[in-house]
Amino acid sequence: MISECALLHCLQHEGDNVLAHSLKVDVAIVGAGIVGLAHAHLAARAGKSVAVFERNPAALGASIRNFGMIRPIGLPAGTLHNMALRSRELWLELLTEAELPFFATGSLHAAYREDEAAVAQEFSQKAPSLGYECAWLDPDQTLARSPALRPEGLLGALWSPAEINVDPRQIIRSLPLFLIERYGVQFHFNSAVQRVEQQCVHAAELHCEADAIIVAGGDDFQTLFPECFHDSKLTRCKLQMMRTAPQPSAWKLGPTLAFGLTFRHYPAFEICGTLPALKERIARDTPELDRFGIHVMVSQTSLGELTIGDSHEYGLALNIFDNPEINRLILDHAKTYLRVPTLEIAEQWHGVYASHPEHAWLRVAPDKGVRVVTFTSGIGMTMSFGLAEETLLEMGVLP
Ligand SMILES: Cc1cc2nc3c(=O)[nH]c(=O)nc-3n(C[C@H](O)[C@H](O)[C@H](O)COP(=O)(O)OP(=O)(O)OC[C@H]3O[C@@H](n4cnc5c(N)ncnc54)[C@H](O)[C@@H]3O)c2cc1C
Repeated sequence: MISECALLHCLQHEGDNVLAHSLKVDVAIVGAGIVGLAHAHLAARAGKSVAVFERNPAALGASIRNFGMIRPIGLPAGTLHNMALRSRELWLELLTEAELPFFATGSLHAAYREDEAAVAQEFSQKAPSLGYECAWLDPDQTLARSPALRPEGLLGALWSPAEINVDPRQIIRSLPLFLIERYGVQFHFNSAVQRVEQQCVHAAELHCEADAIIVAGGDDFQTLFPECFHDSKLTRCKLQMMRTAPQPSAWKLGPTLAFGLTFRHYPAFEICGTLPALKERIARDTPELDRFGIHVMVSQTSLGELTIGDSHEYGLALNIFDNPEINRLILDHAKTYLRVPTLEIAEQWHGVYASHPEHAWLRVAPDKGVRVVTFTSGIGMTMSFGLAEETLLEMGVLP
């Protein structure tokens, strides 16, 4: 049973200034988002001593703002998709070990237009031989899997059983508690790391020596090792999101949902020769969706709320204010195709991740025993454990 006492204890120590000293661990991690936590879990369960430094009182970055979708279907065939499947396995091991709730509900990409159905059908024909488990469902089969889709105009859906849905708020809050209690991982919240040098992490009043140091600072690629990212074409991506009021407790979303717009957003679907026609129709008829990078996906939280998003706006000077037109466009789309007990919006927010035009993530080794790991596309929740395993193997932390 995980209690909040362990975390409070850890924070009190910081308040009492007990931490104004040096310590030595096997692995030190900067950032308590999902990438930092994935490295912490894999290293700790391999018997390593681990310390995690987080500058805020709790992780407040992309990991707590996302859909909570572990979504292998979005990754292109080959190395990336294989890593996503491995990451999913590691997620399941952790969720089971920590007794954290998750929905292994799979996903549906619902098609309401002929060009959307064409992409879904083509993918369902080509993808199984490339390692994806998926199938085209007719309207009755689709509605039998999802109570949330409107039957009017539904042509069918691409079904994939691989996707898992977690509640990011619950996971990112609970995982540190689990890691403290099960493995004695040290968490130093309110502890901004200012420098990493000579295999030592320097926070305000604490210096931590470590054989391996992972910097998982999310979209902050300017504070530590900025020279690694200079001229790297790194930028940021802002995504607007919404959450409904809780649905009635007996009502369940079932599979996480996506629609035709999503086919143009994930590289996995680029294998479809039918995709360009879909993209052309959207660019011609609804250019505002392209302008704001809008597609619509839906997941459910542990409290029954529906998380609905999102948009994609790129730049280093992102608008700190949210654009109500974007939320209206997302919600109009959702209303057209969803039949759910309530679409009353209870929360709106945006999240930001680092973005790179060519790479799905960047992993650099600026110093001996140090890796900086940053996802540069919207796949970090899916891939975090897979990439963490690869990184720790490469560093010799895992045998
Ligand atoms: C709205 C949204 C929806 C998304 N949906 C999905 C999804 O459904 N599925 C999916 O696979 N991916 C999704 N993503 C992408 C995914 O959320 C990110 O790739 C992932 O969360 C990145 O994790 P992270 O730990 O690297 O970064 P973050 O979660 O941002 O964590 C980085 C942490 O490092 C800390 N930090 C930074 N610098 C320092 C320092 N110097 N000292 C101490 N601490 C520091 C920060 O405070 C922060 O807590 C989504 C992203 C967004 C924004």
